[in-house]
Amino acid sequence: MKRSVAFVVFFLVFGFALAGLYWSQRRAKSIPVSPNAILNMAADAQRDLSRLPMHLTRLSDEQEVAIGREFASRYASETRPLTAEEQGLEKYVRRVGANIALHARRHLPYTFTVLHDHNMLNAFSLPGGPVYIGEGMLDLMTNEDELASVLAHEVEHIDHYHCVERVQVEAQLRKLDLDVVGALVEIPLDFWQAGYHKDEEFEADREGMYLAVQSGYSPYGAADLFERFAKLCDEYVIHAKSPDEELSQLAIQSLSGYFRSHPLPSERLAQANRIIAQEHWESRTARKPFHVAYEVRNGEFVK
Ligand SMILES: [Zn+2]
Repeated sequence: MKRSVAFVVFFLVFGFALAGLYWSQRRAKSIPVSPNAILNMAADAQRDLSRLPMHLTRLSDEQEVAIGREFASRYASETRPLTAEEQGLEKYVRRVGANIALHARRHLPYTFTVLHDHNMLNAFSLPGGPVYIGEGMLDLMTNEDELASVLAHEVEHIDHYHCVERVQVEAQLRKLDLDVVGALVEIPLDFWQAGYHKDEEFEADREGMYLAVQSGYSPYGAADLFERFAKLCDEYVIHAKSPDEELSQLAIQSLSGYFRSHPLPSERLAQANRIIAQEHWESRTARKPFHVAYEVRNGEFVK
């Protein structure tokens, strides 16, 4: 109860802040002087598409799950056998994700899958429960709380109907009938990696932080990651640092796509720090180690 009252107050304050931010960005758009302004414009144009005024009828959970499964079946394309380390990583992400999902508002069949590509620095979710995370994104993490924050953010996109509403908007634009699940083939898969409207991203960050904390994680997991993203965005996107042994050209492209489709990491970090202060979570600094356990016996993965 206390949290919901605090949340309403916070939302009012935050709503004004967001409106201010929006208008300052609108003004900045007329003078695209920095690479950052250009990045923001591209991302805004992409996001505005998903915000056309449309009448959306809420689908049943069953229908939403069926739509998500249809897309998930197209993602299930891993043909090579996974190494023991990859299987260990998969199991680790599933375990952390299952704990997060236990605390989600909606009771949906949440699943957590690693996309085994070190150049994929992104995470996304599908309607009804499937959550994906690229191995490149996992490579950036130094503690389990960071992983929990990303998975919780993705669960919140599903929990708050962002995913299903997005497919409903796309279906209306393409004049597709959502009752005919097969019609969804016309929607490309990379559609899901494009991020959401800025206020939906902030909502997923905010609610994701509460979800991660309820699941026993430090709120600093999100703050740590946003801080690292801010540094990477500054180095590789704003100042166009050339590829090095740390990040390949493909990884940088993937990361740039992630930054274009999400609010600036500095803004996400600022929101995370505001929530930590508001909820008096400053003492919750203990992070769990990022620990993948696996064992190989006679060439077989055993745990
Ligand atoms: Zn997001």
